[in-house]
Amino acid sequence: MKNILEIKKDFPILSSNLTYLDNSATTQKPSSVIAAYKEFYENSNANVNRGIYKLSEKATTLYEYTRELVAKYINSDISEVIFTRNTTESINLVMYSWGEENIKKGDTILLTEMEHHSNIVPWVELVKRKEAKIEWIKITPEFRLDLDDLKEKLKLSPKLVCVTHVSNVLGTINPINEIIKLSHEVGALVLVDAAQSASYKMVDVKKDDMDFCAFSAHKMMGPTGVGVLFVKKDILSNMKPFNYGGDMIREVHKDNITWNDIPHKFEAGTPNIADVVVFAKSIEYINNLYANYEVETHENELTSHALTILKVIPGLKIIGPDNIENRKPIFSFTIEGIHPHDISQILDNDNICVRSGFHCAEVLHDVLGIKATTRASLYFYNSTSDLDKLVEGLIKAKEIFKR
Ligand code: PMP
Repeated sequence: MKNILEIKKDFPILSSNLTYLDNSATTQKPSSVIAAYKEFYENSNANVNRGIYKLSEKATTLYEYTRELVAKYINSDISEVIFTRNTTESINLVMYSWGEENIKKGDTILLTEMEHHSNIVPWVELVKRKEAKIEWIKITPEFRLDLDDLKEKLKLSPKLVCVTHVSNVLGTINPINEIIKLSHEVGALVLVDAAQSASYKMVDVKKDDMDFCAFSAHKMMGPTGVGVLFVKKDILSNMKPFNYGGDMIREVHKDNITWNDIPHKFEAGTPNIADVVVFAKSIEYINNLYANYEVETHENELTSHALTILKVIPGLKIIGPDNIENRKPIFSFTIEGIHPHDISQILDNDNICVRSGFHCAEVLHDVLGIKATTRASLYFYNSTSDLDKLVEGLIKAKEIFKR
């Protein structure tokens, strides 16, 4: 196995004096992804699924190759993979195309208290329109999903359970297989927000029997502007289109319109061709990483180092599980007496990028009674020395604020 620390050199932006610890927001891109844009626009650019000339066929082949790669990556059929703009749009697609038809007055949707806004707001709006209701699955004092509470709420026979695979604030990995099994026992479908887990090659839609799964390419070292929505074939075949127009149709007559096959029925208009094509390079990069490097060992090293050194700072409280079991290297924390925005600004003076605020998870912050946190989120190209720099910066912040 190769030394994973070598991979940092694949990321041009990281060659500068930058400590990038905001990977839950978006990840950096390796040279192969950046170069793929030039390659595509210089040699393969044409619209897809339209022309019967060679260049258009080439662009279509490349576009569909990414779909094949994604399907393999998540263990689905290619007809179950829809390209969207991001996780948010994928979830909105489910809300409009499935939710509008299937959620009725008085129905219940379960959400967890640790959901990202993009897996809350569409559902809150839907239940308002439908006079349906939302029930929230609680979290435990150890920052895990409360499975007893889930079991209790499943007695309400919800139609849908929406759950994040990995929390973008806590780093907690939810036991998705168990959650889906329990939900299916009461006839509920499950939507998995995999925005924070797809980058770790954790998504297996067949093994876990997912009904819907949403994620974004930009959190997987891929381009912005590309999201994925997986929907189980028998559900997708019965869903109405999301957007209407070209490409999603088979025939259009004045008095009769028929839809294209899945998944094309859900991709109206010219898609985000170049970005989808380039996305293939990031999946190939991740596949190569897992094949040639001890990725999990490195990740565990990062997590245990972070938990050890952060705990040493007086007044620092980690908002997330304090052991390496079932968690990803996402560390949100508070420091007594210092506002997270101040922490973030002081760290920025040393080119350390972290995020401060509620990270699009205001419900979770409300539940925890915390206004804001600072979040350091790591990825494969981070090293323990990045964490050491973070801690040095935090100590500086404490000195400045005399805390
Ligand atoms: N869900 C989770 C858990 C996330 O972390 C994010 C991004 N922070 C999203 C959804 C939304 O992703 P996007 O902004 O790419 O739509």
